[in-house]
Amino acid sequence: MTEFPRPDVTDTSRTFWDALNEGRLVFQECEQQHRWLPARDFCPNCLSDQFKYVNAAGRAKLLSWVVYNSAMNDAFKEQVPYNVALVQLEEGPKMMTNILAPNDELKADMDLQLEIVNQDNFKLAKFKPILK
Ligand SMILES: [Zn+2]
Repeated sequence: MTEFPRPDVTDTSRTFWDALNEGRLVFQECEQQHRWLPARDFCPNCLSDQFKYVNAAGRAKLLSWVVYNSAMNDAFKEQVPYNVALVQLEEGPKMMTNILAPNDELKADMDLQLEIVNQDNFKLAKFKPILK
């Protein structure tokens, strides 16, 4: 079996990945309350390098997605067709992820809940629909 590709954990992103391993999704926030993902050494809005990490509550909305009908990496062969989605956390930052739902049930603006999943002993932040 082909192993899943692993994120490149750098000095910049280590806090993000360590938090996920502890069951928390974190984003960065500068002194002017700009918030962002993925991890950077400075605020993409005001370029400040003064920031803190904040725990996300875990709620988000689905902004957009694509469905892959062929695997770009052999490790994903058995998951085809799978989605890759852009979601926006209720705190503001946007992130790429997967939605844990059938692709034909995805709807723009649907409410989502964080679900941290284990993939080859590496924790990833995914989302599932909040059923009403
Ligand atoms: Zn800023």
